[in-house]
Amino acid sequence: MSHFFQLDGVLHAESTPLPRIAEHFGTPTYVYSKAALLENFSAFFDACAGRDALVCYAMKANSNLAILDLLARQGAGFDIVSGGELLRVIAAGGDPRKVIFSGVGKTVDEMRLALSHDILCFNVESIPELHRLNEVAGAMGKQARVSLRVNPNVDAKTHPYIATGLKANKFGVAFDDALATYRTAASLPHLVPVGIDCHIGSQLLDDAPLLEALDKLIELVDALALDGIVLDHLDMGGGIGINYGEAGEAEPVPVGDYLGRVFARIDAWRQASYGGKPIKVIFEPGRAIVGDTGVLLTRVEFLKPGAEKNFCIVDAAMNDLMRPALYQAWMDVREVAPHDGEPVIYDVVGPVCESGDWLARERALAVGQGDLLAIMQAGAYGLTMSSNYNTRGRAAEVMVDGEQLHLIRQRENPADLFALESLLK
Ligand SMILES: *Cc1c(COP(=O)(O)O)cnc(C)c1O
Repeated sequence: MSHFFQLDGVLHAESTPLPRIAEHFGTPTYVYSKAALLENFSAFFDACAGRDALVCYAMKANSNLAILDLLARQGAGFDIVSGGELLRVIAAGGDPRKVIFSGVGKTVDEMRLALSHDILCFNVESIPELHRLNEVAGAMGKQARVSLRVNPNVDAKTHPYIATGLKANKFGVAFDDALATYRTAASLPHLVPVGIDCHIGSQLLDDAPLLEALDKLIELVDALALDGIVLDHLDMGGGIGINYGEAGEAEPVPVGDYLGRVFARIDAWRQASYGGKPIKVIFEPGRAIVGDTGVLLTRVEFLKPGAEKNFCIVDAAMNDLMRPALYQAWMDVREVAPHDGEPVIYDVVGPVCESGDWLARERALAVGQGDLLAIMQAGAYGLTMSSNYNTRGRAAEVMVDGEQLHLIRQRENPADLFALESLLK
């Protein structure tokens, strides 16, 4: 069920009309539904009930502390990609022992920080990274638990910027090199290979490529076992997509169906080859947890009719929501309240001085100056990808819980944006 809906012509988040949020907090503002967040997490968590499985929310999708706190209380672990994200987990009261650390460029300082908090696992992406981690762990008198991110070379059939499992991508260890790389890991005194992982891309609507990747991981786990390297967990990565509401868009696979197929495949394999001995399964969903839980609320500054195009200039811009500019992402734009008059076709653009600063193209909207618009499904890769380009403070973030509103991030004040800068002495 969507927690954003029209009631008497006015768009609501749960029981709260969006105009009320604009009045209280101004625009642009990210508005999240708490109920939607908990529902999305439950879809994963419930499908894992009774199993040795862990849902590690990929927090780069949306790392607001309030969101991390809510998910941690529901039992989430976290997939992090920087030391900064680990500090957020800790600040939000999350458990570092449920953290896995992904990413191709972990620094010595980040490794040290993660080891000092005893994280669950490092998802290692190269041989030099194995050596660095071994040295850092050795110097701290610790053993680092590692998994290798294997690149299964399957085509996730998604936008090239969010496909990560092909040979041409920077991510992971090539499938053909995986055995040798595990042997290297096993030979290093301060590393313990405990898992295997992959992450083949994002916004996948069909789970066939994920199941194909799973088969390749299974093949490797078996080959490693013959080599005496016995792994405790298998990590499927993230990638399940959401519906953005574009005409003709395929429906995403229901989360429960996907997890059911993963577990069925794994159970059959463990039954056939390991006498039923289970293996822990980890998922790293990001977008599927937060994508449809948020909208970006923005106000129309001006309408600018033109010979070839009409522009609807709003107070949100590419710095607030980068997905359209970065990946040509299609995002749904809705009028927040009824407006008299016929719809006109507009490009919805921001005030930033770039032609790439657009949020939506060729949309029929009945709007006037001063009206509110909502960019839907903006909960993932929205605020976290935002910048201060054009010295624009980042948007406020508000979490709706029924009629209750929580300001979970204040709007940035322009003076804060240059507070760390200094003039020459
Ligand atoms: C980004 C990322 C995820 C989450 O991807 P979604 O498509 O948002 O589910 C999971 N794992 C890794 C390693 C990632 O880089």
